[in-house]
Amino acid sequence: MESKDVFVDVFAGDSAIELKDRLATSKRVVLTGHRSPDGDAVGSCLALWNHLKEHGVDATVVLPDEFPGFISWMNGKDEIVLHSETPEQAEKLLVEADVLFVLDYNDSSRVGDMQSALQSSDAFKVMIDHHQQPSDFVDLMFSDEKSCSTAEMVYRLIERWGEEGELSAASAACLYCGIMTDSGSFRFPSVTPRTHRIAAALCETGINHAEIHSMVYDNNREGQLKLVGYALTEKLEVFPEYHAAIISLSLDELARFDYEKGDTEGLVNRALSVEGVNFAAFVKESEERVKLSFRSVGEFSARDFSSDHFGGGGHHNAAGGASNDSIQEVVSKIRGLLPEYSSKLNY
Ligand code: 5GP
Ligand code: MN
Repeated sequence: MESKDVFVDVFAGDSAIELKDRLATSKRVVLTGHRSPDGDAVGSCLALWNHLKEHGVDATVVLPDEFPGFISWMNGKDEIVLHSETPEQAEKLLVEADVLFVLDYNDSSRVGDMQSALQSSDAFKVMIDHHQQPSDFVDLMFSDEKSCSTAEMVYRLIERWGEEGELSAASAACLYCGIMTDSGSFRFPSVTPRTHRIAAALCETGINHAEIHSMVYDNNREGQLKLVGYALTEKLEVFPEYHAAIISLSLDELARFDYEKGDTEGLVNRALSVEGVNFAAFVKESEERVKLSFRSVGEFSARDFSSDHFGGGGHHNAAGGASNDSIQEVVSKIRGLLPEYSSKLNY
């Protein structure tokens, strides 16, 4: 049987080692993740933050906005600087950084309002990311679209540094969370034997993997569960003829269930799980814009759909985008596009 574990090691060259030397002499290291940071973005940032700190390198995590409550157990989360809360402090850190890590995003636009400070910073920028088609706005790029998560890549960098034996449980727990959340609890096709070997190594540090899973997934508020129930009963539209499904939630609907950030995480996958459905869209209204999540199974590219119609991007089977149109307009636009894709979605 062909091994699924054939890969190009993006960390094989000297640049990964040179980075370690650079970090040792850097005074201001900043770690950033994307807007609406998820388990992988925050997990990667805090894992590297903990690891660097334990190795005598002071760093600061700067995120565009609030992270979901299900990761509030991570070590170091209280020291994260949020641009949405203290923009001046966040921008000063970005601009004055010597080394700036770009973790779990492939384009400067993914940091929202932090973009201009990120772009104007003279820091040595290092991208570690697994999204396709990265923009070249960094000085050193570790991009591996085959990797299931950025956290897996952070582990591999630490391994390249020869420091995997020194990985602390605090750091390992953050990496485990990043891999677990981005791989759908180790079930997506992007998971390889290597992913499991890395997970095993993380478990060897003494982390409690069952507790991490539980803290992330068994932590629902009543309103959240009821919101999911409402979305599935009242708002799921299935188009069997197009092998597609859409769920949309307006601000009013979200408010009815005391919506909190992260509450609708994974909802798009429920729509995708409907028998025969190969493409699912989740459309969510917010104060500023309408946010879109697309998922597909098999050959249909959620990324192309998102980039062609909503200026978005992401991975082949998991993509996202945003729109300034009304939620009704966005939903109508998606419905209207489906017939055009009828043959491409028919498999
Ligand atoms: P999610 O649906 O979980 O928000 O996003 C799925 C994936 O789509 C993310 O991992 C990210 O790669 C990508 N993505 C989400 N939103 C955007 C966006 O607004 N622009 C781009 N380029 N990619 C996005
Ligand atoms: Mn990720």
